Amino acid sequence: MPVEKFDVVVVGTGAGGGTAMKMLCEAGLRVCAINSGPRLEPAKDYRLHRQVYDLKYRGFGDPLRLQGKAHQEPYSVEESEYSEGHDLFEHDVAYSNAPGTDWYWKRCKATGGKANFWGRSSARFGDIDFKAADLDGFGENWPVDYAEIAPWFSKAERYMGVASTAQNRLSNPDGDYLPPIPWRCIDYIIQKGAEKIGVPYLPDRCAQLTVAHNGHPACHYCGNCTRGCDVGAFFSPTWFTIPDAEATKNLTLLTNALVRCVLVDENGLAKGVAYVDRGTKREVEIYAQVVVLAASCLETAHIMLNSKSRHWPSGIANSSGQLGRNLCDHLYGGPGFGYLPQLLGQPATPDNIADSTVAWMPRWQNLRNPREEKFIRGYSVYVGGGCGEFPGYYDQIEGFGSEYKRNIKRYYPTPIGALIQAPSLPSPTNFVDTDPVKKDIFGIPQLRFHFQWGENELLMWEHSKQMMIDLFKAMGGEMWGADSEPNRPGTSLHETGVCRFGANPKTSVTNKWAQTHDVPNLYICDASIFPSPTDKTTTMPIVAFAMRSCDYMLGNFRKGVHRRV
Ligand SMILES: Cc1cc2nc3c(=O)[nH]c(=O)nc-3n(C[C@H](O)[C@H](O)[C@H](O)COP(=O)(O)OP(=O)(O)OC[C@H]3O[C@@H](n4cnc5c(N)ncnc54)[C@H](O)[C@@H]3O)c2cc1C
Ligand code: SF4
Repeated sequence: MPVEKFDVVVVGTGAGGGTAMKMLCEAGLRVCAINSGPRLEPAKDYRLHRQVYDLKYRGFGDPLRLQGKAHQEPYSVEESEYSEGHDLFEHDVAYSNAPGTDWYWKRCKATGGKANFWGRSSARFGDIDFKAADLDGFGENWPVDYAEIAPWFSKAERYMGVASTAQNRLSNPDGDYLPPIPWRCIDYIIQKGAEKIGVPYLPDRCAQLTVAHNGHPACHYCGNCTRGCDVGAFFSPTWFTIPDAEATKNLTLLTNALVRCVLVDENGLAKGVAYVDRGTKREVEIYAQVVVLAASCLETAHIMLNSKSRHWPSGIANSSGQLGRNLCDHLYGGPGFGYLPQLLGQPATPDNIADSTVAWMPRWQNLRNPREEKFIRGYSVYVGGGCGEFPGYYDQIEGFGSEYKRNIKRYYPTPIGALIQAPSLPSPTNFVDTDPVKKDIFGIPQLRFHFQWGENELLMWEHSKQMMIDLFKAMGGEMWGADSEPNRPGTSLHETGVCRFGANPKTSVTNKWAQTHDVPNLYICDASIFPSPTDKTTTMPIVAFAMRSCDYMLGNFRKGVHRRV
């Protein structure tokens, strides 16, 4: 049988993989994109405008739906009865936690990945992040500086459509923005209180279209974004990169194809990938001149660790021993929630945009002096509230029956709650490897997590709780409480670091172009290359760095470093 060979194989069709296949297809390369789950169909899978009382299981989904699955833990908000049309989330591929680790690995296996349901916060990283090691002496700098990456942030923002304002702050450089999302009543009250305690409260950078943009319609503020947008008014691969790549006719998209490993030739270079066809459970090989891994941070490391050969006995491109190392995450948790009595009895205004990251408190700690606080680096905070469709504060009010319902209504426009986003620091004890014994149902060794929160992020957590006490006082609010402990590691979905990039092949997996040091025709387009997290989210930077890496790769095709089929 003649074997079809592609110029490039891209593994994953999420924020990173979608960007790669768009760039490469538009440049005329023949690309095969491989996705582990089904094709997402917005009309079926984003059933966002249903009311909970219209749903058979009141939004929680069939309690027996995961029976018999290898990984039975249901995922939080994003996996609900609203998105049960297809089997969108990964429950067949089990993972394991080392003793003492409680990592929560949420995976969307449908085309487009997690950015079908993401929160859209999209701030730029700055030199305060890239050169953090120079500033506070901890860890490694990034191999790029702001001047080098800023044009790519602009390209990503202009393509995605990011709404915000110029803010002139060290920790979140300004970008190319659409008009900001209108503020809710609560935002003005919180901003006044925050001002009194010296904390910034500003419009977030949000990849949600406040005006029509690049052929995509403006948002109509239905407030259901984390169930997927049925009109495509926020950036997602489903509405943006995948149709762009398909329009070129240069794309072959394989679905329900779970990549197990990267295949190598007699010189140890990448020659394609092997995947399991979920339908037949057969293994299939696909060949290409260049392989791009964009299966999301952790799954990319999983595939590489499972790509063992005579040339790469501990996983492909792992001569540094850094593959799987430096696992970091954002510590998430609720440092304070309560309500604003001044809004009691006020009419509910239709500001049903509470599902959006409308405003945030960008990092304000250690900006001028990196050692001003007891911790190094810094965190940011989002505050939610407003007249959302569902009273998210229901579990903060005690009671039962009609009195409970009356109370829910009484408080309706007033509650607010905060979410801290605190970066962990790289640590030699936080990493992933493959379990020596446990395999998934396809016979693939499971990814195993080793992770604990460190002292630095726990100090930020304590700091944020005190800040919330001060804030509630300053804005005349009443505090109901705070989470007793942070969320489980993995909750944020902003993990970084397991294939970090750097100039030194002895201490990093890829060079600054995300091309592996050891295997020049193997590139990575996701957050696994980021050596450390920041106080900002990862997706817009994933898109920006993927654009830059693909541009570099295309240069290599032009120069003959990589040859077309
Ligand atoms: C509710 C929610 C809120 C969020 N809020 C924000 C936010 O406000 N800001 C922000 O920046 N980020 C946010 N995120 C995180 C954001 O969605 C991710 O950072 C981003 O989507 C990651 O993109 P990715 O392409 O690296 O991975 P993914 O989106 O996970 O895509 C990976 C793709 O690879 C495929 N794949 C995986 N394994 C294999 C395999 N073995 N073989 C073949 N294909 C494979 C999957 O099917 C998937 O399509 C949020 C996420 C969620 C769910
Ligand atoms: S609020 Fe806007 S972006 Fe979100 S789902 Fe509704 S229309 Fe789409």
